[in-house]
Amino acid sequence: MISEKVNQIGASPTLKITAKAKAMMAEGIDIVDLSVGEPDFPTPENVKAAGIRAIEQNFTKYTENEGTPALRRAVISRMKEDYGISYEPNEVIVSSGAKSSFFHLIQAFIDEGAEVIIPAPYWVTYPQAVTIAKGKPVIIPTKEENGFLLTPEELKAAISPSTKALVLNNPSNPTGAAYSKSQLEALAEVIKGEDIYVIADEIYGKLIFDDFHFVSFASLGEDIKRKTIVINGVSKSYSMTGWRIGFALGPAEIINGMAKIQSHSTSNPCSISQQASLEALTGPQHEISRMAAEFQRRRNYCLMRLNAIPNISCFKPQGAFYLFPNFSSYYEKEANGIQIRNSYGLAYYLLKEVRVAIVPGDAFGANDYIRISYATSMANLEKGMDRIIEAVSRLKTSKKAKRIALNNAMTRVKKSVPVDSSANLKMRDALVGEMESHLTPENYFEWNANINGVIVQLKTNVSHLYDFWVENWYPAQLEADLEPHGIIYALDGIAGREPRIFYNSESKTGAVINADNYGPLRSLALGLVMDVSERLFSVHGVRGMSTDVEGKGLILIGPPGTRKTELFFALLEDKRFRLHSNDIIFVRHAGGQALADCVERKLYIPTNTVESFPRLAPLFDASRCENVITHKEDCKDAECLRLDDCRLDRGSPFCYKASKEAHAMLDPYWIGGKVAYTKRTSLRWIFILRYDTLSPGSVKLEKAEALRILEAGETAGVKKSLSPSKPQPYYNPHLLFATEEHLELQRNFYGRLLDSTTCYLFNSGVAGAEQLRQIVLGEV
Ligand code: PMP
Repeated sequence: MISEKVNQIGASPTLKITAKAKAMMAEGIDIVDLSVGEPDFPTPENVKAAGIRAIEQNFTKYTENEGTPALRRAVISRMKEDYGISYEPNEVIVSSGAKSSFFHLIQAFIDEGAEVIIPAPYWVTYPQAVTIAKGKPVIIPTKEENGFLLTPEELKAAISPSTKALVLNNPSNPTGAAYSKSQLEALAEVIKGEDIYVIADEIYGKLIFDDFHFVSFASLGEDIKRKTIVINGVSKSYSMTGWRIGFALGPAEIINGMAKIQSHSTSNPCSISQQASLEALTGPQHEISRMAAEFQRRRNYCLMRLNAIPNISCFKPQGAFYLFPNFSSYYEKEANGIQIRNSYGLAYYLLKEVRVAIVPGDAFGANDYIRISYATSMANLEKGMDRIIEAVSRLKTSKKAKRIALNNAMTRVKKSVPVDSSANLKMRDALVGEMESHLTPENYFEWNANINGVIVQLKTNVSHLYDFWVENWYPAQLEADLEPHGIIYALDGIAGREPRIFYNSESKTGAVINADNYGPLRSLALGLVMDVSERLFSVHGVRGMSTDVEGKGLILIGPPGTRKTELFFALLEDKRFRLHSNDIIFVRHAGGQALADCVERKLYIPTNTVESFPRLAPLFDASRCENVITHKEDCKDAECLRLDDCRLDRGSPFCYKASKEAHAMLDPYWIGGKVAYTKRTSLRWIFILRYDTLSPGSVKLEKAEALRILEAGETAGVKKSLSPSKPQPYYNPHLLFATEEHLELQRNFYGRLLDSTTCYLFNSGVAGAEQLRQIVLGEV
């Protein structure tokens, strides 16, 4: 429903925590909100009056797209007066907030794949905006001992031929760290020698403390000015967050590009706010220093309180209105049964236990920290600090605290990829040539797997695929000298190619290109094995979830949306039903029986299966996993919309539920020991699943009808949204082709299979595991 792009980003966590805090306040709960990113002062009277005047004078129409000439001139004058930099009117644009300026800049400036260097901790919007533009955020962690400042050496090391820009937030949200003139000059020296730009977000430039002297990056010389886009605005300095006015200054060509984007997104910023901002920039400026002095007083107070907490370190900021203390020594502690594992956990604990809202450092790319905003009244700060100190003092070393180190690989590609099984021998040879040329000795993994007697060789340059491959299959004996039945190349990092699978049946050669996740490789391997064993051994793959009852097997077959998984695990709750396979079995006819084998050494199982089988969670903890969600931003679960439901928000280090794309390699013996698992059964029942509220619970099917339904691979009553993929013959997405010759082979096989089994059409919309058990146990 939602675009892939949106799936890649998360909502602003600041908003989320603030929203949660606000919701609690609305319930009458006394919350101290230290999460907000805006000054608590009113907008100055003269500025407000200018806004009201604008309304009275009907200055309420569209203005120039780039902002009124008067306001742009005022911005230019401020830059000249404050920092001594000269700009022309075509070098400035006014937007609906600095965030809007930044967003339009990134859209206008960043091409797909262009790298943007972002020092961490960073303001949350930077990487997200770059991601939306299909650029690549390159996050460079800074060190607390370096005052959270990027060093010239770190900058130099981060620059690549693809680097387009560096984002320099001075002073910084969330750390409050600020660069001195000489520190900026050292960075400028690096910039001068490179073909890159600097996006200087100086929105907190006026909120500085002690005798710190703020210098705008663009003021470091004409050559640097040509490479700098300054972002600034009235939100913070003039306490005007809600008025939504920000601006950008830089080379005319870039500003012009931003203007084009802006003309199609927001058009001009609010006319009334522009008039108010004009007054803010041209009127008296003394309110700013009064505000900065107050922030300094609050900073000193909060720092003093924080420094009294044992085992906390807190950097002393030179600007902005945030503190960024390191609370990591309290992770792994617990109180009232709540165990803190990370910054999200601490945030959740503080909100629930002492009703203080702060922002977890992880949101800014620094999990050891939390962000405390002191842009709130002294009375609130006193109350907030009292509460934090009290809450922290309650935290005790947890007796059972155990850090779960998840063995989890994150892959670039998450989903299945398109399969082209029409490759001829000539294409195969060309493909093999291309694949071999990418298999360099220092990045080469090879392993022969024995998949039900079919030997499949994997050649890959992805260590993760190799790990999962070795884990998934039984090894082939004498693997060094054995001639494999088929070969699969799995190569990642091939420029200019989309993720795709190719397969040539004649030579039994497959290629997985640019897909670093295991699903597509496993599926191709199963397809190849079916291709070989159907013809050579008359052994067929049957897709479904199977269990064994007293040596007799049943299989649940059906598309997504028919509650197959729920039914399967509900069946397994009964000790008489033993686990056989969670995805595919290989079946051969022998002595009038249909012998069914589970051919996988480990089960490649979606981790969201924990929803129907919670006791799998500790087993997944000890398994190799792929794409388990560890960051809230990566969560794609539409069902956990309520904030209280989110395990990650509550501090859990990962969530097995959050994505269908996460899998574990589960050892089937772990589920219930030897007695609860069998690798072989004799198949006796086929349950084709449908899901509706009207059809009968179960209907015994005649052979011809069962064959027709299986071949069509379609079940009536399944919502399209639940089963979006095309119908698959025999409900089997691993089958590589559906030619008439191939379908004939399947028809013959399933025809024989239906002679030795009983087939039911089972409606999981009205009947459950209990009814299914009754059918089976009545016929054992
Ligand atoms: N840059 C930084 C570093 C910020 O912290 C913020 C506001 N939180 C902005 C830009 C955006 O400010 P505006 O309200 O003008 O969009």
